[in-house]
Amino acid sequence: MTPLQTDIVVIGAGLTGLTTAHYLNKAGKNFLVIDRNPFVGGAIQTASEEGFTFEKGPSTGVMSNETVGELFEDLKDICTLERAADTVNKRYVLKDGRWEALPSGLMGGITTPLFTLYDKFRILGEPFRKAGTNPNETLAELVKRRMGNSFLDYAIDPFIIGVYAGDPAYLVPRFALPKLYNLEQKYGSFIGGAIKMGREKAKTQPKPKKKESNRIFSVEGGLTNFMKALQQSAGADKFILGINNLTITPENGHYTVKGINFQGEEISIHAKQAITTVGAHELEMMLPFVEKTTLDKITNLLYAKVVQVSLGFKQWNGFELDAFGGLISFKEKRDILGVLFPSAFLKNRAPEGGAMLSVFMGGVRRPEIHGLSDEAILQYVKKEMCSIMGLKSFNPDLVRIFRYREAIPQYGADCEARFAAVEALEKQYSGLYIGGNLRNGIGMADRILQGKNLAEGVK
Ligand SMILES: Cc1cc2nc3c(=O)[nH]c(=O)nc-3n(C[C@H](O)[C@H](O)[C@H](O)COP(=O)(O)OP(=O)(O)OC[C@H]3O[C@@H](n4cnc5c(N)ncnc54)[C@H](O)[C@@H]3O)c2cc1C
Repeated sequence: MTPLQTDIVVIGAGLTGLTTAHYLNKAGKNFLVIDRNPFVGGAIQTASEEGFTFEKGPSTGVMSNETVGELFEDLKDICTLERAADTVNKRYVLKDGRWEALPSGLMGGITTPLFTLYDKFRILGEPFRKAGTNPNETLAELVKRRMGNSFLDYAIDPFIIGVYAGDPAYLVPRFALPKLYNLEQKYGSFIGGAIKMGREKAKTQPKPKKKESNRIFSVEGGLTNFMKALQQSAGADKFILGINNLTITPENGHYTVKGINFQGEEISIHAKQAITTVGAHELEMMLPFVEKTTLDKITNLLYAKVVQVSLGFKQWNGFELDAFGGLISFKEKRDILGVLFPSAFLKNRAPEGGAMLSVFMGGVRRPEIHGLSDEAILQYVKKEMCSIMGLKSFNPDLVRIFRYREAIPQYGADCEARFAAVEALEKQYSGLYIGGNLRNGIGMADRILQGKNLAEGVK
């Protein structure tokens, strides 16, 4: 078969690859996008069944950088951004089997039972504690040093479970939470730093008309509509889907991408540049020309295994769903990581009077849950839902279980070597760009920003 010719080939049509494609198209570039799946969106997939609309993977993003708003502005005629209702600002954390609202102000901070009295007093001294000097200090060590054990257990641990399905004793803030790390390094304190940064911003930047930063977003009808809109804006004819056994090989100043389509035929593409947006674990097969010692530094990235259980109730008779959801510290020794309440803050997710919930399980500290049977997973869900969600009996009208073996990358101390290996590889092989969630952040906003930067970075 004659190879297809293009300037740029993008591997992966998840959020990162689709955003890259959108910006490549905007810049008038000649490109193709290839994916193993017969559909676009990667981890982002919405389903609508029996009156419920639910996400199989990511449920919401945070508008944590300006590119997110800019992208939605580009897509405004073909998809409608949905800003979450204000309910989303309330979050619960489980302590001793009871949901407690995470405090947002000073009064709440003083009265909350989540933190010990000792730590509440100790926090007053936070601005005066010395900045850390170990660049590979873990998040757990950092928080214990600056704020105390109860903040680690009942604020940071649930937060990290919600974002990374991770373990604060593994994650290194320099890579996993760079904004937090920089607050301490630049200003010497989280509290003092946040205040000073706010003042500096107010001086140097015009006040936004409406506070958009850090707003929680989805898309009307579900995030799949966002993925389809990106595909449409990039040009549907640019996508070659359902391609397996994909390899990239440098040859005479270009890259040859080979794979097998659903009919079992080989496809071959010649491109001047190749951009990968797949997970680290995919690169060993995809880049057979790279030395194993270099590749190992990239592919050894730990991913959290996650199980997501979508539960639909036509009539909700449990705990009042007046929040984003509830997260559970590992210390509570529960069999679920948390529950999100999407129907409490997004439109049309459940029938009137009903509820759509998303239960998360597994994570880096309970990886075995991923391998359990559906029956065993549901036993755990049933037990926990009756215990903490105020349900007398467990009779959901809809149950769907989704398993992710490589869900969320864990940015630990090995990041430094990984990033150096990626940079060295890109330098050695001109025109090869390694994107994806192995660097530049894990959230939807990070993926969007990386996609834009990848598109702008190609020559
Ligand atoms: C269960 C789950 C829940 C999450 N929840 C949230 C959330 O609520 N908020 C948030 O901000 N972030 C969340 N994330 C993180 C992040 O936003 C998503 O993972 C994001 O959608 C990742 O986009 P991506 O394009 O980088 O990767 P992916 O979506 O994984 O896309 C990669 C694409 O590459 C393709 N591919 C992989 N290997 C190959 C190969 N060998 N050949 C060809 N194609 C290949 C895949 O088919 C896929 O389409 C969640 C992630 C998971 C897994």
